[in-house]
Amino acid sequence: MNEEKIAAVASVLSQWNPLGENARNIKDLDGYRVEAADIVFGLKVRGNSGKPERLVMEVLNQAFDLNLTPPELHRARTENLGNHGEGLGRAIRSPQPGSREGLRKSAQPLTFTLCASVPRTKNVDMLVSAEEEIQQVKMKRPHVVILGAGASFAAFPNGDKSGKKLPLMNNFIDILGVESLIKKTGLVFKSNNFEDIYSAIHENPMLSEIRAELEEIVYGYFSSMSLPDEPTLYDHLVLSLRHKDTIATFNWDPFLVQAIERNMGRFNPPMSLYLHGNVKMGACSSNHHMGINGTHCRQCGNEIKPSRLLYPVGEKNYHNDKFIAEQWRMIATELKKAFMVTIFGYGAPTSDASAISLFKTAWGSVDERNMEEFEVIDIRNEDDIRETWSPFIHSHHYSVEQNFYDSWIANHPRRTGEAYLNQFLEVKFIESNPLPRNANFQELWDWYDVLHGYE
Ligand SMILES: [Zn+2]
Repeated sequence: MNEEKIAAVASVLSQWNPLGENARNIKDLDGYRVEAADIVFGLKVRGNSGKPERLVMEVLNQAFDLNLTPPELHRARTENLGNHGEGLGRAIRSPQPGSREGLRKSAQPLTFTLCASVPRTKNVDMLVSAEEEIQQVKMKRPHVVILGAGASFAAFPNGDKSGKKLPLMNNFIDILGVESLIKKTGLVFKSNNFEDIYSAIHENPMLSEIRAELEEIVYGYFSSMSLPDEPTLYDHLVLSLRHKDTIATFNWDPFLVQAIERNMGRFNPPMSLYLHGNVKMGACSSNHHMGINGTHCRQCGNEIKPSRLLYPVGEKNYHNDKFIAEQWRMIATELKKAFMVTIFGYGAPTSDASAISLFKTAWGSVDERNMEEFEVIDIRNEDDIRETWSPFIHSHHYSVEQNFYDSWIANHPRRTGEAYLNQFLEVKFIESNPLPRNANFQELWDWYDVLHGYE
């Protein structure tokens, strides 16, 4: 049944051929089959309230990096369907320009044909219920989650347990109360951004004492932060991923470590990595294992020594520090295996250009892979997000959410892989299983126990 619908929509798309001649340059186009599956799925999910034109536009724009606009869709709908020449919009994947000729005058309007091809009746065979999803444990590949400052800020907009605010780059100096120390440098900075200020201090060897004092204050500030007693977004995140998954954080704050610590008695936590060092994590002097500061290495018994924090300087070198080099080696390995990557609150500042290229090398440029999902959770507007992550958005399915609780993780906890397989490979409709965000710890653990029981 589903196959028939997808074939019907694919046939409409092939006749319309929004890519024009550029379609020939796309080897895996397969008669727009993938896009057809997305449209069938989208129509089902949005039901009668969805606007088919808008959905078609979104699917095609994402798949081919076109800039189709509503007027172009309207023209395709009302004037003609066939396009064997110039593609609509701007096709970055296939930049060769084509010529516009051979339009089919007799073709039916797009929306009419689409709606006729896709009866929107409910069909239970096509739906995977939350209960069925819970019972499935099929995915072995990791879901990789990357956290930036925005994630901690989203978790604690009013501060940590004792009301300590999470600083962002542009209010860092103010929140940490280091204005007078910064004044002592005698420098004039081009902005109030911590990245610019720290970089300038770092470049000047005469300011090494001020730099050391600044680093000590920063380390102390983050070390003294702690999670509130009740369940937080960090607890929800840690509990919603399985042991095969990975959370890599750019944040120095201790929230991820603390959330893992307080939930790991009941659940085997996901792997955690600390890409810029962390105030709670370190490794033994022989670098056998990483661990929580103050504990001992399982292999040699030596005490775990704190990691150094990687500060925001223009040219970061991820290989100078053993601990940080190892974190980057491991994230690259996990990204290569990932079926889904979620970037949460990480704005990819300019000083992190090398981070983006490392991510791209590890995950984004593997041509023979397909259908991976790239998800961004970010409060910035979608244009900024598209600009930052364009290398990934060009070649993968992607979604953008403003709120963690709208994400794949929060709606398919511990089963993002199964939800992904059901939606994209089985082309089925999936029911959400949102985590109970207002539950206390006992209720929360009992809820996750049901999922854990099938694993
Ligand atoms: Zn050791």
